[in-house]
Amino acid sequence: MLLELDKIRSFIKRGAVFYVSHSGGKDSQAMYVALSRVGPAGQLCVVHADLGEIEWRGVQEHIQATTSQALNVVRASKTFFDMVRHRARTRPDVPAWPSSTTRQCTSDLKRNPIHKFIRNDMKTRGITLALNCTGIRAEESPSRARKEPLKINTALSKAGREVWEYMPIHHLTTAHVFHLIKSAGQEPFWAYRENERLSCVFCIMGCENDLSHGARQRPELYQAYLDLEQETGWTMFNGKSLRDRVQLQAIAA
Ligand code: SF4
Repeated sequence: MLLELDKIRSFIKRGAVFYVSHSGGKDSQAMYVALSRVGPAGQLCVVHADLGEIEWRGVQEHIQATTSQALNVVRASKTFFDMVRHRARTRPDVPAWPSSTTRQCTSDLKRNPIHKFIRNDMKTRGITLALNCTGIRAEESPSRARKEPLKINTALSKAGREVWEYMPIHHLTTAHVFHLIKSAGQEPFWAYRENERLSCVFCIMGCENDLSHGARQRPELYQAYLDLEQETGWTMFNGKSLRDRVQLQAIAA
């Protein structure tokens, strides 16, 4: 089930720690299930990048309920809203909101805090070998399909520290992912009853179905996004407001 299994077994033998980047979504959950069937529990370390009020409530409890290790929660020093405001103020010539081609939200709020955690945690444990594991899958997009599922992380590696990027379920389909979760006797996060993907409640790449569900569940957060569009003078989706992508009927329901 896991990609590159022989290489992964040799990493385990060498005492590598597998840092499981867990968003609470189905792909993270399935990745954890797959890894926990191969790697010793003591070599798995679960990390969640907390995005504060813009993430679904209950996500961290869901991660805790479906993993065996202590949950490590990391946070960036700024929030998503801080980031949009800062960009509107300092770069008035370009859109203030992140987009699929300029995803500072992922790099600044998730990837960088997790990388910092890995560096510090490796030092604390006194280990020199680690894998940063993410639930990225080829099926999600052509650019994700082109990614190498196992490769050295040159930014995190240096003399005396070897860190690999690993996408253990890169090859799995959505159906496989749900099957894997079920096979562990688990359920995916409750929002999947209506959502297609789990991300921020209002993701810059969210589909109309998921955005509308978010607006129904979190009307105050929906309003905060609309207020931020007003304040910055930029719409959330390149020329289109969040309001235009949410089905008002669904909110009233
Ligand atoms: S879920 Fe969407 S909005 Fe949130 S950090 Fe990721 S890309 Fe950005």
